[in-house]
Amino acid sequence: MSNSAIVGINWGDEGKGRMVDLLTERFDVVVRYQGGGNAGHTVVNEFGKFALHLLPSGIFRKGVVNILGNGVALDLENLWNEMEDVRSKGISLTPDNLKISDRASLLLPWHRELDGLEEARLKDKKYGSTRQGIAPFYSDKYQKKTILAGELFYPSHLREHAKDLLEWKNLTLTKVYGADPWTLDHLLEWLSDFGEKLKPYICDTGSFLRSAQHADKNILFEAQLGSLRDLDFGIVPYTTSSNAIAAYAPVGSGLPSAKLDEIIGVVKAYSTCVGEGPFVCEWFGDDAEKLREAGGEYGAKTGRPRRVGPIDLVATRYGVAVQGATDIALTKMDVLSYMDQIPICAHYRLHGKITDEFPFPSILSEAEPVIEYMEGWKEDISGVRTWEDLPENAQRYVEAIEDAIGCHITYVSVGPERDAYIYRG
Ligand code: GDP
Repeated sequence: MSNSAIVGINWGDEGKGRMVDLLTERFDVVVRYQGGGNAGHTVVNEFGKFALHLLPSGIFRKGVVNILGNGVALDLENLWNEMEDVRSKGISLTPDNLKISDRASLLLPWHRELDGLEEARLKDKKYGSTRQGIAPFYSDKYQKKTILAGELFYPSHLREHAKDLLEWKNLTLTKVYGADPWTLDHLLEWLSDFGEKLKPYICDTGSFLRSAQHADKNILFEAQLGSLRDLDFGIVPYTTSSNAIAAYAPVGSGLPSAKLDEIIGVVKAYSTCVGEGPFVCEWFGDDAEKLREAGGEYGAKTGRPRRVGPIDLVATRYGVAVQGATDIALTKMDVLSYMDQIPICAHYRLHGKITDEFPFPSILSEAEPVIEYMEGWKEDISGVRTWEDLPENAQRYVEAIEDAIGCHITYVSVGPERDAYIYRG
């Protein structure tokens, strides 16, 4: 039996979905343990190209059981739409291969509405929310003012609970934001409509996971977003509203006693960042445009152009440390093939001093990147499948990153397709 986690080391969008899709071959169960439908994992395989938002990336493999754990933001409406979309492309989703925790809290339609209202209030000070209701949802969860998925099985209890929540939430909607109140009928209709569709998938996934553990099954924990977006350890307040780091996987998945044997951290061969907040190694102008085009760097969920720059070793080393990564998957190496020289953000300069420590969020924007260059390889590497066949300069680039971040680079990805990677062992 093994417990493994796949996590993002930087700002997210490192290619986690692609790595989970590849690695699910060795796992029996894949669990999403935090976050909601506010990010997108892109997976390219024999069924086509998919942008998954809430569904675990193991849904494409026969025999793999996929779980949405108690730590996720469960938006029944968006999940159902995503399931319909995936099904329309020939993927089978049944209560046998998809299970939803009865302890997951429901992201309600008013959370999405509140997200938009708050971003509008913040105007130019906005945090860059994707307006999927994630921050209002987690705030309410920690106030114990959400509905658990399992409550859908107890209609009279659900009605009373919904009524109480509605009364409370309407105070905020109308008196704080001047918005229209929700009616109980409207809320109950929404709950019944999507609840009935999804009830067959909702069960005690904690008990399922404990049985899987006893039966020596291999379990993979899948994160959304990266270390720098973690609620506690990321670039506050430009973080997500949950813990994206591996340490949260046992809790958010519903198997709190799990010990992680392997933590695969996904790092992109250069940096990208969606949304607001300090991004020390950011490029602008032509260089940025070229890299963005080469890497197709537009958000899977939002279509927003991603901010881009060279790999940031200071941020990456910090990301590796907070994740406790045991292995690294370095993705999108093929994208750098056009460069004569490959830039690396090797250190930061902060208040006149060179530093390798990732600064406290409040002063991060004052740090400047210290850039060094390595020779490029200037040839197409997307067809390379062994370390020996990788051009020497590309090998040097991988080894230099490995040395700097202090973690073994086990996988080098050279394309979005499932088999486009090099295993270094
Ligand atoms: P995730 O949220 O971490 O899963 O990342 P995204 O799906 O948002 O972004 C990763 C993007 O890079 C997707 O479009 C992938 O298909 C693509 N991708 C992943 N690995 C590689 C790679 O090695 N090379 C290239 N060219 N594309 C890749």
